Amino acid sequence: MIGVRGCRTLVTLAGPARPRVGPELDTLAAIDDGAMLFDGSGTIREVGDRSHLEAIAPAGTVWHDAGGAVICPGFVDAHTHLVFAGNRANEFDMRCRGASYSEIAAGGGGIRSTMRAVRDATEEELLAAGTRHAWWMLRNGTTTAEAKSGYGLSVADEVKLLRAIRRVGEDTPLDVVPTFLGAHALPPEFDDRREAYVELVIDAMLPAVAGLAAFADAFVEPKYFDADAARRIMAAARKHGLGVRLHVDQLTRSGGAELAAELEAKTADHLEQTDADGIAALARAEVQPVLLPASVYALGLAKYPDARAMIAAGLAVVVATDFNPGSSPTPSLPMAMSLACTQMRMTSVEAILASTVNAAYSLDLGDRIGSLEVGKRADFLLLPVEDVREVAYWFGVELVTEVWKAGQCVFRRG
Ligand SMILES: [Zn+2]
Repeated sequence: MIGVRGCRTLVTLAGPARPRVGPELDTLAAIDDGAMLFDGSGTIREVGDRSHLEAIAPAGTVWHDAGGAVICPGFVDAHTHLVFAGNRANEFDMRCRGASYSEIAAGGGGIRSTMRAVRDATEEELLAAGTRHAWWMLRNGTTTAEAKSGYGLSVADEVKLLRAIRRVGEDTPLDVVPTFLGAHALPPEFDDRREAYVELVIDAMLPAVAGLAAFADAFVEPKYFDADAARRIMAAARKHGLGVRLHVDQLTRSGGAELAAELEAKTADHLEQTDADGIAALARAEVQPVLLPASVYALGLAKYPDARAMIAAGLAVVVATDFNPGSSPTPSLPMAMSLACTQMRMTSVEAILASTVNAAYSLDLGDRIGSLEVGKRADFLLLPVEDVREVAYWFGVELVTEVWKAGQCVFRRG
């Protein structure tokens, strides 16, 4: 048995076996001077007061001293585009000079520019880039990340990208949940043949990638994919056993939240433009909103999703980074939490629970990760702070001093 003790506070985030809603989302479960025992497979066996655990720990238990740090669960990033080639710093500079995201995309930039870089890259090169990004996430405390494809946009390139995504999860301590996002943008060879591309996604891509992904996703916007295309793609994805996530209502109010509710999607992501009717539809269908404030911030926009109305409606809100080279070049969930607090008026505890427990449930992993409870995996962080709420308070700081994954220390700040 392995134990960890000597912490200021063990933030367990323990609670009912479901996502947190309403006042629960603002309730912090923690044990001062707590301790934890886990077995060799990294499964938590006991959580409680240090003195109690020292009394019941089996002989030969190896204790790790937390040095007075705060311990909290590893962060879960439920919306990322983890693996891509190149970067779009040139477009960032164009936006600084006044160009809009849509103008840059219309000029051949945007998703298509990353598509070209991904098509030109080998699987090994994508693995190397994804590994670099995964370590950025780990250093910021993320221990599990969802990762979307959607920069290949051909059968062979989507397969290559999803293979690289899976290998990042095998080669680094970061656990990766792959999502197929073939309906991310229209590749240039299908200009003016949108319907033919949707058929390619359904008839050729989905059968080729179904064994490589856990979820399917689509970018639902008037100039990208409409509700009818999303309905057909997601019906086919379900037949292949994939769960449903959707990018909706990011740039325009186009009924995306209602579509996510109609399709009983696991998550509706973005929701910057969603109004009260859309929020009510999500609540009726119990769809989890995945809010991505870093993409609003990085695009220099001002309209954030209405997190307060969503929480008031009883929605199990998730906060994620949307890490990608175009609209959200940050791997840091603490940065996204900070923005959730300052721009969306979430409390720091709400932001933390939205990035751990609720994020885990949105990936169908709520029974294994997101909180520190008996039977779950020992994925946790050491933070040199007095209060875990400092995670959302300090920004631009890599606070995490140790990352433990499945009961093993995988990162220690030198
Ligand atoms: Zn995204």
